[in-house]
Amino acid sequence: MDWSSIFIYDTTWSFAAEIVIRVVVMFTMIILFLRFTGKRGVRQLSIFELTIILSLGSIAGDPMFTKDLPLIQAVLIMSIVIALYRSCTWLMMKYQPFEDLLEGTSLYIVEEGVLILEKIELGQMSHDEFFSEMRMQGIEHLGQVRVGLLETNGDFSILLYPRDEVRYGLPLFPKQYQSVTQIDSGDYYACMYCGHVDKPSALKELCSRCHNKCIGWAKAMNNVIIR
Ligand SMILES: [Zn+2]
Repeated sequence: MDWSSIFIYDTTWSFAAEIVIRVVVMFTMIILFLRFTGKRGVRQLSIFELTIILSLGSIAGDPMFTKDLPLIQAVLIMSIVIALYRSCTWLMMKYQPFEDLLEGTSLYIVEEGVLILEKIELGQMSHDEFFSEMRMQGIEHLGQVRVGLLETNGDFSILLYPRDEVRYGLPLFPKQYQSVTQIDSGDYYACMYCGHVDKPSALKELCSRCHNKCIGWAKAMNNVIIR
């Protein structure tokens, strides 16, 4: 194996010096570019913003070490991308349908303590995903949640019920999110698929909201949120 070809190949001292200049220039360009997007910082990206970052990725990095890639081309491309980004954000502000197309729309996942089924059935969300989102916000069961909205950037907005309006709901933590093995009459149980709370008379009774999708009953909880 030719180690020098792996690590050095045809690198000369003069090209190493050129790399230093290239990196400094491109580094500055990237910072300027990101400042021009007008964003305050990056936490979670929408699909549209991710597209910008992806198209920026190789054009920002390649000129740092590619000999026959003049920096002016990189600067030109970055300027075009930033112009596109600014025009798109302007159009999105003007025309709502355009924004929906590029950014997607926010989705209701929970309303009045139960899961909104259509969204889950479309495969846009999995139980695990939003259960963990809600758990991280200190929510123990769905009966505490009035509204759960999935934002276009992947964030979760949650409105809670006030203490005295907390109802019975589906537990979200793994130890309580368990199918019961017997039904005690008079107790509240939550459908493990849709979160509907009922007093089923038998274990094999199906949920009256999602019917045959019902995957079992978990013991419903109604404790209030502690903060
Ligand atoms: Zn159900």
